[in-house]
Amino acid sequence: KYHEQLVELKGNIRVLCRVKPVLKEDQHEEGQTVVVTTDPNNESALTVLSKGKAKNFELDKVFHPQATQEEVFQEIEPLITSCIDGYHVCIFAYGQTGSGKTYTMEGSVENPGINQRALKHLFNEIEERKDMWTYTVSVSSVEIYNEVLRDLLSKDGEKLDIKINPDGTGQLHVPGLRVMEVKSFQHIKKVTRKNRITFGTQMNQHSSRSHALLTVTVLGTDLASGAKTTGKLNLVDLAGSERVWKSGAEGERLKEAQNINRSLLALGDVIQALKAHQTHIPFRNSRLTYLLQDSLGKGNKTAMVVQVSSLESNVGETLCSLKFAQRVC
Ligand code: ADP
Ligand code: MG
Repeated sequence: KYHEQLVELKGNIRVLCRVKPVLKEDQHEEGQTVVVTTDPNNESALTVLSKGKAKNFELDKVFHPQATQEEVFQEIEPLITSCIDGYHVCIFAYGQTGSGKTYTMEGSVENPGINQRALKHLFNEIEERKDMWTYTVSVSSVEIYNEVLRDLLSKDGEKLDIKINPDGTGQLHVPGLRVMEVKSFQHIKKVTRKNRITFGTQMNQHSSRSHALLTVTVLGTDLASGAKTTGKLNLVDLAGSERVWKSGAEGERLKEAQNINRSLLALGDVIQALKAHQTHIPFRNSRLTYLLQDSLGKGNKTAMVVQVSSLESNVGETLCSLKFAQRVC
């Protein structure tokens, strides 16, 4: 209940920003001046120095470069609890390639990210509630590349499509999508590892240019009353937001870039429309928003982690990402 209140208080769509630390391997780059600064006295403020001018941004929360995976997860944890309570939850990592999206979602062996911590929390919470509730947890995973959906739980990434469910409910479904029931945190780890759907180690060559989704469905039954809940957790590592056509990309690369741009714009439009309580939400403008329609809509909860580099060489992309954040914020 405390968690519930916390989430209500903070709103159903939260936009967080994480500033990537300057790593050794980033040092060789030109323009390595740090132009992004956080404010130790105001955890929602961020300043970017561009062309001699300081631009200020305000988000729901800003993580400074030294923020740990643990600290980031603390902000996300209430959403995971909500998911067990029957909410549909989306957690997105947005930003240019190399800004830390996969690090935030997947993390490393020593520093696991949101995905692992979320799943661990989920099963711990289920265990704690076992005298009152029983839960069935299942997972599915898809990649969206060039507006084509592929099943990451199938051996060869079978192509899928989104259809209106013929059952007359008007709900969407994805015929043929593989859904696996999982019994524990260890089990879910085994399933995802076996299918190589951990975002960081995705086999495919275009992982930075595709959206990767891991969806966890949590069906609850109240042991006393038989009441049911359906929670859904969508963990999304978005395609890199960089505007590659600025560098004169052509052919396949340009087509990819246009598809990515269109779907990220569509996502921004949907979140903005939801924030503004508009009656028409443009879910159908991209596969990504169409697929997530029942999780993004009213009454659900979303967190967007906007990743930025603090280096001068990336300042253009950083400003673009922050503008995106501001638009949905
Ligand atoms: P993206 O998925 O956005 O392309 P990555 O998550 O792959 O970016 O990050 C690029 C590199 O920076 C990786 O080597 C990653 O481990 C490292 N990195 C990103 N964020 C952090 C961080 N907060 N702390 C330490 N290393 C990080
Ligand atoms: Mg990545």
